[in-house]
Amino acid sequence: MSNSPLQAVRGMNDILPDEAGLWLWFEDTVRDWLESYGYRNIRMPLVEPTALFKRAIGEVTDIVEKEMYSFEDSLNGDHLTLRPEGTASCVRAVLQHNLLYNAPQRLWYAGQMFRHERPQKGRYRQFHQIGVESLGFVGPDIDAEQIVMCARLWRKLGIRDVALQLNTLGDVASRQRHRDKLITYFEQYKDVLDADATRRLYSNPLRILDTKNPAMQELVAGAPKLMDELDAEAIAHFEAVQALLKRHDIAYEINPRLVRGLDYYNRTVFEWVTTRLGAQGTICAGGRYDGLVAQIGGKPAPACGFAMGVERLLALMQEDGMQNPPMPLDVYLVHQGEQASAFATLVAEALRDADLRVLLHCGGGSFKSQMKKADSSGAVCAVIIGDDEAAANEVTLKPLRGGEQGKVALAVLAQKIKALTE
Ligand code: ATP
Ligand code: MG
Repeated sequence: MSNSPLQAVRGMNDILPDEAGLWLWFEDTVRDWLESYGYRNIRMPLVEPTALFKRAIGEVTDIVEKEMYSFEDSLNGDHLTLRPEGTASCVRAVLQHNLLYNAPQRLWYAGQMFRHERPQKGRYRQFHQIGVESLGFVGPDIDAEQIVMCARLWRKLGIRDVALQLNTLGDVASRQRHRDKLITYFEQYKDVLDADATRRLYSNPLRILDTKNPAMQELVAGAPKLMDELDAEAIAHFEAVQALLKRHDIAYEINPRLVRGLDYYNRTVFEWVTTRLGAQGTICAGGRYDGLVAQIGGKPAPACGFAMGVERLLALMQEDGMQNPPMPLDVYLVHQGEQASAFATLVAEALRDADLRVLLHCGGGSFKSQMKKADSSGAVCAVIIGDDEAAANEVTLKPLRGGEQGKVALAVLAQKIKALTE
């Protein structure tokens, strides 16, 4: 057996402390933002029955065809999958627990998703999403709310240069008409279709429009447009969404080619896109999915949601010079001598009782070497304890960002330190 050090699975990243501070800041900001719109947190398992994703996302999609981590439970033979996205799990949970019983729901979740893709910048096999789902709301106001709230988040995060693309996928009947026209159109060019498109021609022709193959672009550009098939209700819904966006001064571009990679969408679909992350430019994507609840076995209920890619958002923020915030630390506690060290642990706990953040030096060493560590720790002050101080029930307080050092009685120590941190 090889003895070489083991590595993480390809495409699955460690987030090290030097970066995790930025993640924490991001997560706090996102949580405040979600609460400011009244969305409530929901947490689903990372593993679901494979059938859920097949049914929700669609059999003829990139995710289900080639990106899922699926396996058989070796103990009972169940077919399971690491979740590739959150909407299906969220809707499953809502139905299983009957959350739509008497009120619509505004929900959010955060966490890892898994897709077996070719790893590259902004595209990983384990990545993180923040997902937002509104269930039970039929009107265009909720579609607009979700887009407006995204715009607010970009402002809060200091993200610039993201553009909103918008489209409508209409309803079942118009999609069926469009589908028939697409098949007739693409059938005329069977020799030009690539392998994916050939496979999808009869199973999911809409997805041919989503192709990333440059050789197919011209063909796709000339394909029949869903816009021409929309019925009056879908048009009115789409216009109402746009009118609301205009009232909020949110610029957008209508992109008739925006069909989204998942089958469950209808009516409004949107993506927030940047040109600054190369090919992985979509930082957030979503839309309405009124058919999904019934599709996975529930009583029909309208729904609308979106998910953003955390790695891509953070990459964009880092490009703008956003850095890992320093570890927030108030006190570095320096101590030497047997009495002093025992006393120091009590002092540290007493300071934490007063809500201060305290790093207690560990591992011995001279006062001088400990003070060096205190200086580079980022703490606001050092608290220094020798056996003399311990005997007198006091400490030496040394401000590390300017100010005089001096002896302080234990009873007033926390108060003095708080004065320094203000
Ligand atoms: P793409 O077209 O880039 O493959 P997608 O349409 O498959 O994206 P969605 O399923 O809509 O993506 O997921 C929502 C968001 O999650 C994306 O806009 C993106 O920001 C992020 N995301 C999707 N797949 C990955 C991945 N493999 N690695 C990192 N982020 C991802
Ligand atoms: Mg994808």
